[in-house]
Amino acid sequence: MSLIGQSVTVLGAGVAGLAVARALALRGAQVTVLEQADAVREVGAGLQISPNGAAVLRALGLGAALEAVSTRAAAVELRDGPTGDLVTRLDVAGAGYHFAHRADLIALLLEGAREAGVELRLLQKIEAVDLTGARPGWRNAQGGTGETGLLIGADGLHSQVRRALTGKVAPFFTHQVAWRALIPESPGVPNVAEVHMAPGQHLVSYPLRGGRLRNIVAVEERRTWVEEGWSLRDDSMDMKLAFQGFSPRVRGWLEQVQDVWLWGLFRHPVAREWFRVTEQGAAVILGDAAHPTLPFLAQGACMALEDAWVLADALATHDSLAAGLAAYQAARASRCTRIVEAANTNARLYHLSGLARGVAHLGLRLGSVVAPQAALRRFDWLYKHDVTAR
Ligand SMILES: Cc1cc2nc3c(=O)[nH]c(=O)nc-3n(C[C@H](O)[C@H](O)[C@H](O)COP(=O)(O)OP(=O)(O)OC[C@H]3O[C@@H](n4cnc5c(N)ncnc54)[C@H](O)[C@@H]3O)c2cc1C
Repeated sequence: MSLIGQSVTVLGAGVAGLAVARALALRGAQVTVLEQADAVREVGAGLQISPNGAAVLRALGLGAALEAVSTRAAAVELRDGPTGDLVTRLDVAGAGYHFAHRADLIALLLEGAREAGVELRLLQKIEAVDLTGARPGWRNAQGGTGETGLLIGADGLHSQVRRALTGKVAPFFTHQVAWRALIPESPGVPNVAEVHMAPGQHLVSYPLRGGRLRNIVAVEERRTWVEEGWSLRDDSMDMKLAFQGFSPRVRGWLEQVQDVWLWGLFRHPVAREWFRVTEQGAAVILGDAAHPTLPFLAQGACMALEDAWVLADALATHDSLAAGLAAYQAARASRCTRIVEAANTNARLYHLSGLARGVAHLGLRLGSVVAPQAALRRFDWLYKHDVTAR
């Protein structure tokens, strides 16, 4: 299906929305992005972009921009939280793993979308999506309405488009919370992602922006409920107290934390229905709107990038909207479900306690002596998958 001149409306200017907007505009579509915020901005936090995500940025012509704003990872180290002892080290130098500031990734995608001719409209909070008419329609917070031929829901965790497709789904609290913070770092520190693990807790940290900043995500199991969202601030003392049993290295980082955000971790099912064809149009979802994930494999943004490429490619290479969208869902649903499930499993592994913890750590230590790269090869299906290769 030729996309030249096709009018497309994308809801949401996050990773998924900006990436799919560029991918479609490069193929000739006329793309408008509606974003609720008054500016495209991002929270202060880091992102790991693994080779499967980086492949999409390269295919979108943004490889040089990615290299300019990110740092290439040299290794991943798993460490015992209380002692700081190394459990195992995975050498990833040359494998194409990047550390990036979220704001830098969003800025490069925004520039990429604009350069491809995408129109961005801010202050467009969509309050309801209607898929019962001939064409997908919506109502915004000011009471204005609109409709389009192809509506793409890249509107994240609380997606209005997903709600119109599948109804409201109640997520469940995992009884885990994540603090995230940035602290200053000294340029020249090794480009290593460190995971410090203890029963019921773990902390991930890596340098950003050429080593001038350090990203920290600290996860703890707890009984009390915490809101799901990016904007809830917490007292940095709570985080320091929670991790006071960790090694001096980790405590030293936490001493420097000033601003900290707290995020309740919820599990959401992967959407059953990713698209609907109406009489004269269609609606489809991607990214967190379709498959929110726990952050324990660092794949949410990478999946969003993969979705964006596959969706644009499927539409361009099939005869009709219906065939293209069916091919997109078929290509993505099982892979995304597998990734979401693998992230759930990682949460359990990092937080083991007692005998299970001892056995798992011993296994990892032995593995790093006998077959250091075997642990990484287990994830070839994930990181070595290139959705842009045909
Ligand atoms: C602590 C943490 C660490 C993470 N680390 C990593 C990592 O290392 N690697 C990785 O790949 N992923 C990571 N992720 C996941 C990743 O950030 C998300 O999966 C990714 O940002 C999803 O992108 P998205 O575009 O689908 O949604 P979002 O980024 O949520 O974007 C949605 C956009 O839609 C807009 N919007 C929402 N509703 C409306 C509406 N009604 N009307 C108009 N606009 C609307 C929003 O304002 C926003 O701009 C992490 C997540 C967390 C919380």
